[in-house]
Amino acid sequence: MEILRTVAELRAWSRRERNEGQTIGLVPTMGALHEGHASLIRAAAASCGSVAVSIFVNPTQFGPNEDFARYPRSFDADCALAAAEGADVVFAPSVDEIYPAGGTTFVDVVGLSQRLDGKSRPGHFRGVATVVAKLLIAAEADRAFFGQKDAAQVAVLRRMVADLRLATEIVVCPIIREADGLALSSRNVYLSEEEREWALTLSRSVRQVEALVAAGERRAGKLTQAARVTFAEMPQIRVDYIALVDWATLEPVEVAAPGTLFAVAAWVGNTRLIDNAIMS
Ligand code: AMP
Repeated sequence: MEILRTVAELRAWSRRERNEGQTIGLVPTMGALHEGHASLIRAAAASCGSVAVSIFVNPTQFGPNEDFARYPRSFDADCALAAAEGADVVFAPSVDEIYPAGGTTFVDVVGLSQRLDGKSRPGHFRGVATVVAKLLIAAEADRAFFGQKDAAQVAVLRRMVADLRLATEIVVCPIIREADGLALSSRNVYLSEEEREWALTLSRSVRQVEALVAAGERRAGKLTQAARVTFAEMPQIRVDYIALVDWATLEPVEVAAPGTLFAVAAWVGNTRLIDNAIMS
């Protein structure tokens, strides 16, 4: 498996593969790869002849007081995992390669970027949309693979791809969880043993809302209230948001319908975690 460092190398690779008749799959990541990322790489390898995994801790999606500097980095292990799951190349650019000196161009998905995580992390989705646009343009990918784990991010990126009429199809893959329900996240390494237990409140609240919907409760007020009660039982955790929203617009809904997004975010100690489910 090759490691590419520049946009020109990635573009040249993509064009060469396409000339040989391959479809191109891209899996954007920030590294510290785990089984959630592995599932995306496997999905890409299953449906695309040539697969690139990008590993780039994107500074513009971190706020000034967030964890950019201490974000986990494990490049050699990441490359081994990517290769084992079927990646053909890893794209690991420098910050300067993605953000040329003097650059002033950003992608702002107005409205959507200010909702859910965007509300509590100002500028986050602007950073995400900008880097993903750059990656999609550089890779000329047919398909790009993202996890439902970051459901608001998916909404922002779908809107961006539609608005810019980019040629890449966004493919969304299911949330991979630990056996006890905790959604895998690179940030789980920050959790102490105790916090790891507290963190289960997120997946518990998600399962609870799914069960209520399955039992016929569809009123948003009742569903979010039930989740609030679950969080109230774990006062060590600070809720950021509990929301039932339209997955395309991220606007609150009154009634859960198939495809509605139930999403939670909470602070467990100094670690902010998210979880969600799409209602059936
Ligand atoms: P990150 O490296 O955290 O930026 O994540 C890169 C991609 O992996 C994003 O599309 C995430 O949604 C996805 N991802 C992260 N955790 C999971 C998970 N537990 N299950 C599925 N996909 C995930």
